[in-house]
Amino acid sequence: MTDSQIHDYRAGFVAVIGRPNVGKSTLVNALVGSKISIVSSRPQTTRHRMLGIASFPDGQLVLVDTPGIHAKQSRAMNRHMNRAARGAVSDVHASILVIEAGRWHSDDALAYQALKDSDVPVLLVINKIDKLKDKDALLPFIKQVTENREFASVHLISALKSKGTADLVRSLLQLMPESEPLYGEDEITDKSQRFLAGELVREQLMQRLGDELPYSATVEIEKFEENGGLLRIGAVIWLEREGQKAIVIGKGGQQLKAISTSARLGMEKLFGSKVFLETWCRVRDGWSDDEAALRRFGYND
Ligand code: GDP
Ligand code: MG
Repeated sequence: MTDSQIHDYRAGFVAVIGRPNVGKSTLVNALVGSKISIVSSRPQTTRHRMLGIASFPDGQLVLVDTPGIHAKQSRAMNRHMNRAARGAVSDVHASILVIEAGRWHSDDALAYQALKDSDVPVLLVINKIDKLKDKDALLPFIKQVTENREFASVHLISALKSKGTADLVRSLLQLMPESEPLYGEDEITDKSQRFLAGELVREQLMQRLGDELPYSATVEIEKFEENGGLLRIGAVIWLEREGQKAIVIGKGGQQLKAISTSARLGMEKLFGSKVFLETWCRVRDGWSDDEAALRRFGYND
């Protein structure tokens, strides 16, 4: 590398903020180019702050994916998630406010306020433009949202289809300081494979069981062993009540089998190796409202 190339390289942290379900995790995955952050149509799928590392020839973006900011904070889990989202805004070089095309929600305003209280540039991402039927409504919508609010730039994006992301990356890199890469260029996240394995099982629970299962269901990886190119993983699905077991296991074990198979395929794709996955259910009473239990399951940031 010549001197001038070294000086052209930019790297920094970018917080991805917004109300639940606007597509923050989908956007992070699109920028990183791998599915590291789980996605579902249920709000509150993302429970932890996690880093997505996106490396380009001229720079590196370390994206901080966050749980959605929302006004209701009744339970310990919600308090944890709001803390994680607001904490992400400190110590970044730019923030992205993600909203859904065509809808401006009071929780969007809440997220904007949280960003404005920090001192970093805010980029507006209007996501899910592929869903918008009336394209003529877009200009008035942009005007409504940007009037009296300050954004470094505005981007029309479909995170799902990776549309509009190149322009967003260019704008973000310009806002980053000149720096060496902050992470190895082959790294994609700060989380361990063990953590990601648990998340992929939880994603299946969220996607397949919809509203039948309370938000409190969680996954603990009890075994994670590598042996001759094969990963042996044991996952416990923790539930709040005995009665929830039947829902997760399903008739003749079909549901749990489907959850296991899809999670295993996701792991094989992400880890690039063969996976042998065992999953089972256990019950623990009322843990999602119990701060000590939250810490035990890793919700401690
Ligand atoms: P988060 O809660 O903000 O992290 O949102 P997710 O990334 O989990 O996405 C929530 C839902 O919106 C999922 O069902 C995604 O597939 C969907 N979604 C995300 N981005 C887009 C997009 O650009 N277009 C469409 N049509 N759906 C999207
Ligand atoms: Mg998310």
